[in-house]
Amino acid sequence: MSELSEPLENYLKEIYELEETKGNAKVVDLIEAFSISPGTISKALDRLESLGFIDRKSRRIRLTEDGKRLAVRLIRSHRLSERLLTDVIGLDWIRAHELAHRLEHIWPEDVLDKIDEVVGHPKTCPHGHPIPGREEQVEGIQLSEAKPGEYTVLMIVKEKEWILRMADSLGLLPGRKVRVVQNSRGEVKIQNDDRESVVPRSLTEQVIVRGTQ
Ligand SMILES: [Zn+2]
Repeated sequence: MSELSEPLENYLKEIYELEETKGNAKVVDLIEAFSISPGTISKALDRLESLGFIDRKSRRIRLTEDGKRLAVRLIRSHRLSERLLTDVIGLDWIRAHELAHRLEHIWPEDVLDKIDEVVGHPKTCPHGHPIPGREEQVEGIQLSEAKPGEYTVLMIVKEKEWILRMADSLGLLPGRKVRVVQNSRGEVKIQNDDRESVVPRSLTEQVIVRGTQ
């Protein structure tokens, strides 16, 4: 898809996703996300900057127009690959996410358009993240902030294995309804599918919901 190495493509994508979820990307975020040394990341960022994909001001990293274009292409590829793996091939959403990390780098644009067609032009990936160009920013609140009431699950923020496994076992899947019974400082008692569960704060911070009236 591009002449960048896979790790460099991954950094670009992460910067885009940090901008998307947190509003900005910093070097420390990348060090944490990839568990790499400051030396390695600074070399990689030097390279991305010299290629014109990012700008750096103080500690903030910004994607240039070129950087954004490439990141968006990779993210679209990742999210459509996940859809292909879950909806067509029938994998669970944990394996789909892991495999999509590899597949996202290989599809040519025209093949990606075909995949998009096969999976029915979805608005989001199976974890609720928007397919670029199709849906605006996901508008919702963290489950940890939700007052008692009825909600629909929109998105799981970080697609980490333990998060997805726990969300799955509690029925917190995008598109599903959930009733918040009680919220004590982010630890939330929920009711769905005729059962009650207590969701720890570590998970409620990762689940985005929208109130339903
Ligand atoms: Zn996903």
